Amino acid sequence: MSNRLSGFFATPVRDPKDAIQVHNIPAQAPWSGLVKRGQSIRIIDLEGQQAVDTLFYRADNFAERYSSQDTLRVQGSAYVSTGTRLISNEGRLMLTVTADTCGRHDTSAGACSCESNTVRFGQHTRYLHACRENFAIEVAKHGMSKRDIVPNINFFMNVPVEPSGNLAIVDGVSKPGDYVELKAEMDVLCVISNCPQINNPCNGFNPTPIRVLVFAADKG
Ligand SMILES: [Zn+2]
Repeated sequence: MSNRLSGFFATPVRDPKDAIQVHNIPAQAPWSGLVKRGQSIRIIDLEGQQAVDTLFYRADNFAERYSSQDTLRVQGSAYVSTGTRLISNEGRLMLTVTADTCGRHDTSAGACSCESNTVRFGQHTRYLHACRENFAIEVAKHGMSKRDIVPNINFFMNVPVEPSGNLAIVDGVSKPGDYVELKAEMDVLCVISNCPQINNPCNGFNPTPIRVLVFAADKG
């Protein structure tokens, strides 16, 4: 049986000691940083079962940004894993997933917001911090606003598509230390919300810290 998703190419094995940048991102916090073309970004789920909501923008023109719709259409699969090419709203290749020790990442369910939390979990949860607020805070540092927040990737979030077509949010499958690594195919701004959600199992009901490493471009 053919599997056009297998993306069967050699996975670069990098030593964390070789990282040129190390960022520790506390539970529930946002982060953003530039990743240059050819560099790789590794996102590490330090304690396991932590959703990492992520957006990418072209570094020299934020109007071009990650498109979950184009990414899913191009690869013909509902999930993100090794071999997935992340596509922009201009149809260009932004990053390629080059390593993945978890195997399950979502780009359909979107980011949590105060509004969606009250719909799903009740008005009493409205005060809870949410990914959309994290994104709004972080993109504002780069001159963007809420209207620049588009459908994102949820690394390490387990959202199986049920036979009915419904999306389910179930226990995360990532183990402590699991990571996903992406090679930048253009200069990109990476914006992360380390998801603060405590009412569904995407974070094991307990948000935990993550770590981001950036590696230099391979020589040659
Ligand atoms: Zn969230």
